[in-house]
Amino acid sequence: MNATPAPAGVAALLRRAEPCLWLNPQRQAVVPALLPVAGSRIGLADTQAAAARFERFAPLLARLFPELQDTDGVIESPLAPAPALHAALGLQAGQGRLWIKADHLLPVAGSIKARGGMHEVLEFAERLAVQHGLIGVQAGPADYLALADPAARALFARHTVAVGSTGNLGLSIGVAAAALGFAAAVHMSLEAKEWKKQRLRQRGVQVVEHAGDYEAAVAAGRAQAAQDPFSHFVDDERSLSLLLGYSAAALHLRQQLQGAGIAVDATHPLFVYLPCGVGGAPAGISFGLRQVLGPHVHCFFAEPVQSPCFLLQMLAGQGQHPSVYDWGLTNQTEADGLAVPRASLPAAELMAPLLSGCFTVRDDTLFRQLVQVLEATGERIEPSAAAGFGGPAMLTQTEAGRAWLAAQGLQSHLAQATHVVWTTGGLFVPPAEFERFVQRGRALA
Ligand SMILES: *Cc1c(COP(=O)(O)O)cnc(C)c1O
Repeated sequence: MNATPAPAGVAALLRRAEPCLWLNPQRQAVVPALLPVAGSRIGLADTQAAAARFERFAPLLARLFPELQDTDGVIESPLAPAPALHAALGLQAGQGRLWIKADHLLPVAGSIKARGGMHEVLEFAERLAVQHGLIGVQAGPADYLALADPAARALFARHTVAVGSTGNLGLSIGVAAAALGFAAAVHMSLEAKEWKKQRLRQRGVQVVEHAGDYEAAVAAGRAQAAQDPFSHFVDDERSLSLLLGYSAAALHLRQQLQGAGIAVDATHPLFVYLPCGVGGAPAGISFGLRQVLGPHVHCFFAEPVQSPCFLLQMLAGQGQHPSVYDWGLTNQTEADGLAVPRASLPAAELMAPLLSGCFTVRDDTLFRQLVQVLEATGERIEPSAAAGFGGPAMLTQTEAGRAWLAAQGLQSHLAQATHVVWTTGGLFVPPAEFERFVQRGRALA
């Protein structure tokens, strides 16, 4: 990935913290089966392995989490049409249909982190259990129930799972680790909401509060875990296990699209808009989607105007690691899940040939759209999860978006397009907190 000079307009808008759309000149329609990331190569088999791991653990998860009994331990979210939002989002007749991929409803963690976070904890537990002979390498789902037995729990209790987070990853890792019997330590950055810390403490998770930002919390967690041979650190900035856990979502989304009769091909483009923090979640999902759906899926990352770390990284290219502070930005945003100053380098490396673009969103817009979503669909999402809703208008209503659609030959197929906005969190937001979000959004309307 080489540096690609920012179109002059994009750089100026970024510096002024105004919404902008950047289109990736390095995107390739056809990509190799294996893609380089962090010194190794990953492909569809790795995504399938993550999905298979979730399947092996499903009976155990149904036993450990009462809320997973109805789905037999499957952690998934609905894909639902949202025609009532077309007008509010500026999507006109003939510009395609809007759907919501509702990860704000994901059980256990209440956010997209239920995918990656859960996967990494399961992979760690599986490795320990195999090493200690509690399950065989050929064990099937029923055998995994043994991991709820006292012998397994005693083994897990000798190990700590640690993580640094702005809130949601900590929530996911803490809840998953505690349920399996691990000790858990969550290092929270200053954005982390009080209710997330409380929820963890109630489950016996050690919450370490830091006065610094996300990077500081991750660094502190990494340093502490490095001193303890019985500690596994979930490294949000580097972990492939997290990324592959997220990528498994693509296999399920493909089924959901088929079930809804939605084609993805040269005359039926699919646009997917994903809120982006460090980049692991949206990159994992985009990696999976590009493998299973091919060149006609276009993935766009959405970031707050004060925290566009992924966009800056894509501009800078490999060998550089810019932070939003370098660009005179503050990293201050109510979108706590996206308040990250520097992108994940593996995620950026992986996305260089795959990503279609990035755009930025003002906090005010997040709150307005959170209210529009509530009014049109009744769904309750957190501010971070609203970031994708600016996507359709960025493509169809701005000069840069229209020029890109025309250059890609997509303008003429827009009527048959599908726009999927990925809503990434919200299930566990306390009602009083959500009410404050709504009031702020209504005051802006
Ligand atoms: C973490 C998170 C994201 C983005 O995931 P990254 O891996 O940090 O890019 C988006 N939305 C919500 C609600 C999140 O918690």
